[in-house]
Amino acid sequence: MKICIDAGHNDRGHDTGANGRKSREQDITYGIASVLRDILTANGFEVKMTREKQSDCLGTSLHSSLAQRAKISNAFGAEYFISIHCNASESEEAEGSETYVCAFGGNAEKLAKKVQEKIITRMGTSDRDVKTGNLQVLRETYCPAILVETAFISNPSEEELLLNKQQDFAQAIADGLFEHVGHKKENVTVSKPRTIYKITDTYKQEIYPPNLGFCQCDCPKNNVDVDNYFNAGFFAWTDKGTIPVGNLVDSGIIYAQSKDNPSWINVAGKELTTLYVKNDGTFGISKMANLENKNIKTAISGIPITRNRKQVSMDEIKSEGYDGSELYNTWHNFLGISGNDIYLVAKKCAYEEMHWLMVSLGLTDVVKLDGGGSFVLSNGEIIETTDGNRRINNVGMWH
Ligand SMILES: [Zn+2]
Repeated sequence: MKICIDAGHNDRGHDTGANGRKSREQDITYGIASVLRDILTANGFEVKMTREKQSDCLGTSLHSSLAQRAKISNAFGAEYFISIHCNASESEEAEGSETYVCAFGGNAEKLAKKVQEKIITRMGTSDRDVKTGNLQVLRETYCPAILVETAFISNPSEEELLLNKQQDFAQAIADGLFEHVGHKKENVTVSKPRTIYKITDTYKQEIYPPNLGFCQCDCPKNNVDVDNYFNAGFFAWTDKGTIPVGNLVDSGIIYAQSKDNPSWINVAGKELTTLYVKNDGTFGISKMANLENKNIKTAISGIPITRNRKQVSMDEIKSEGYDGSELYNTWHNFLGISGNDIYLVAKKCAYEEMHWLMVSLGLTDVVKLDGGGSFVLSNGEIIETTDGNRRINNVGMWH
């Protein structure tokens, strides 16, 4: 029996899929599709993939990409067409699996019901049911065709399922097909998907350590008159303006150190994880409350995320006086070390994924700088910002 498997979307260009926090829809759909291909082939089915390779891009526009998928299926003489997608929503809460057919009443609906049932049972996702949709790939294919919205890539816990349980999604779809066509399945060992994951919207800037600097501005962030900068230190409001919180040194001048922080500041007096560059060019990350007489040229404290490639626990973070709420899901700036360089990383993420991201970027030791209102300006161009033009105390810079 001939089955056409459509890994939804293209690798790049037009017809790209939705983005999760860690992954892209087009990578997930390819991962599931390639395992499904292996299962079906091992069970004696003849399979055609619309995207043979993960890097394939079909058509020259959204419309022609979809048209080409149907054409490939029709030319192959497929008896069933299965398109694999991930759902996405503005709301992180949206969840569940659903399967589309062009119209009710035919063989496609029967197959869709079996596949839907197997996914719900195997994956434990909520049942959004079989639905009709006037979708181009379903409309233009000659054979019974279904489109599976496996789960929501925009929902953090479902994204974990999509990343880690691709074999189960593929097996559920295969089991639905087997039951529908009355195939007695052979239990075959199928290898894991060999999917390449691309981290999206991540900015990594190499900074030669002697070129790292900080500038106290105490002004609205958009008014900072520097070409390359990022939101840096935590700060607090006083009746005289803003003051830096924790440790901050630039050009050998100590602007703040936790031993001198006013007692109403949470981190006052604590040994704070601090990234420093000394006058002789050596640099590192270590805990300090007092920065005097240490030959420090530049330094800033931040929330420790990764130390010697290991994740820093929330308990340890709290022991430095932070309360954990600084790590919510927004744009964050990180300073990290890799080999002989310091890197600035800007990324929208939450605590659970920060460490994983930093290690995957090759960083061995990382602190997180101020979060809210994160802002990166490179060569005069705004790379990423959150809304508002709020007053900030200081920014990091590089030359
Ligand atoms: Zn899609």
